[in-house]
Amino acid sequence: MNKLLSKIVGRSDTIISIQLSGRCNFRCKMCGHSMNNNGIMSDAVFDATINKCLNAGIKELRLSSSWGECTLASNWKERIEMSMKEGINVWFTTNGSRLNSVRILPTLLNHV
Ligand code: SF4
Repeated sequence: MNKLLSKIVGRSDTIISIQLSGRCNFRCKMCGHSMNNNGIMSDAVFDATINKCLNAGIKELRLSSSWGECTLASNWKERIEMSMKEGINVWFTTNGSRLNSVRILPTLLNHV
């Protein structure tokens, strides 16, 4: 199945998408998060997931915010940094409301 997906969409077998937060500080009308506005992924679940990703050869982690804002997880930045130190490229989507130079710029500049 992974080989078939790779042929269809490219490198899909090395990419994983994780939703850190089911919560959001916005209430966009088109978003379904209001039906599921709870839950932050625990450290234990995140760490176990990253370990499984490393064993499976995952190269890219996408922190999705389709139904929640990842920066609401108190240690979201540390989770990004930890993943990057393990050699995983990290993408994340955010509504941007909690980003500022103190929170994210040092992390980004360390990996440019
Ligand atoms: S997750 Fe994104 S689209 Fe949904 S309410 Fe939050 S900011 Fe809006």
